[in-house]
Formats: sequence, C-alpha cells, structure tokens
Amino acid sequence: MRSMFTPWKIGRLAGIDVFLHPTMLIIPLLIIARDQGPVALLFTAIVFGCVVLHELGHALMARSYGIATKDITLYPIGGVAKLERMPRSAGPELLIALAGPAVNLALAAIAWPMLLLAEGIVPWEFPLAVLDFIVWVNLGLLLFNMLPVFPMDGGRVLRALLSSRVGRLRATEIAAKVGGFIAMVAGVYFLLHGMIVEVFLALFIFVMGNYELLAVRVDEHRRRQAEGWPAPPVGYRWVEQGDGLWRLVPSGFANGWKMGRPS
Ligand SMILES: [Zn+2]
Repeated sequence: MRSMFTPWKIGRLAGIDVFLHPTMLIIPLLIIARDQGPVALLFTAIVFGCVVLHELGHALMARSYGIATKDITLYPIGGVAKLERMPRSAGPELLIALAGPAVNLALAAIAWPMLLLAEGIVPWEFPLAVLDFIVWVNLGLLLFNMLPVFPMDGGRVLRALLSSRVGRLRATEIAAKVGGFIAMVAGVYFLLHGMIVEVFLALFIFVMGNYELLAVRVDEHRRRQAEGWPAPPVGYRWVEQGDGLWRLVPSGFANGWKMGRPS
C-alpha cells in the first residue's frame, strides 16, 4: 500500500533498485529556505550520487558472497543498502564493510589527478570547483564512515576484527559500547553548539548500534538453544570467549567463571 512515506524509485544500478525516501524532500526545501540556488542543489546531488556509489560498493561485495541486496534507499542522513542478510563470519563482514569506503577512496583518487590536470588547461572556474568538491566530499565520506561507531562501516570493521578473537556476540558488545560512547560524546558536543540535526544523527546512530546489538544477542541465544544449550540460570547469561568457549556470567558483569561448552 502506498503511503506518504513510500519511497520513490529513481533508477536501477547493477540490477539493484535505487529509492529516494520522501523525507529527502526536506533537502530542496532547506535549499529554498536558505535562499541558495541551483548550484547548491547540484552539489547536494553530487553528495548523494557519491553516497549511492558507496552503497553500491557494499552491495556488489555482498553479491560476491552470494548475498543479494533488496534495494538502496537514500535518506537525508545518508544511504542504506538493504542486504538480504548479514554475513555471520568475520572475513565477508570485513570486506563488505570496507567496500563502501573503498569506493569513496577510489572516487577521490580519480578526481584529484583530474583536478590537478584540469587546473592548467580548463579556463572555467565551475568545472574545477565541481572536481574539487568531488575530492573533498569523498574524503569526508571515507573518514566519516570509517569512524569506529557501530553500526557504521568503521564499527563493523572493528566488530569483524574483534570477532575472530572474542566471538561475534562479545565483539558486537564491545563495538556497540565504543560506538555508543563516541556517539554520546559527539551528541553532547553538538547539543552544546546548537547543531540540532547532528544531535539527532548521533542519537540515531546510538540507538541503531544498540538495536543491532540486541538483534545479535537474540540471534546468538536462538542458535545456542537450537544447538541444545541449556538456558542460563536466572541472573546469569552466556558470554562468548572465542574458540567455542563460553562463560556463565552474572548479568551486568563482563567476566565470570570459565566454562567449557556443555555437551
Ligand atoms: Zn557504508
């Protein structure tokens, strides 16, 4: 059923539908409200074009692991490639997470020498400004996405690197904690500086990180039950230690008594 929040399809890239979320309307409205011209609209379109290519990087890397992407949707705060499932193993997760920022690195690496070359030849300011903008936007997207804030790409990289050592659940807990701390500090900073949009962005990332941690907890719990694990006693929980080793830990504590895998 169509509602006012049904995304609009704007195209198809490599067999993946690309949608605009209706909340994207706020961007041209902001541009009009701030009395900025069509140039601002063009530069905004460039930003979101680079975001789509970033998401396509994730989607194509996921496809190489047999994971399809339902669609790519653009929101005012960024893009989302909806993968049909998340890879459970660390290797694919690491490469899928890195593929998006790698696209931005590649775009900057292409645009920068073009800019240097064009500066000597092209007499017009405008194309040079566009190239310059493409370089900086992509470096910005690269750095922003690689911040170790789960569930952003950098946070996923951190989780993937940790999970081979401490297991997926513990790695997610650590990544969510690190990311939550950074998002909170950034949120307070933004609040003190009256940057309201950024406050909501930090809050959104904080909530999404904890939401995904919850999903991983539920998933791991179900998997252990399916494998015939006993439920933890009241007031305790299982904590993965890596290498198939689990600990029974009083709820609220990070560490507890070492236990082998019950058979
Ligand atoms: Zn990304």
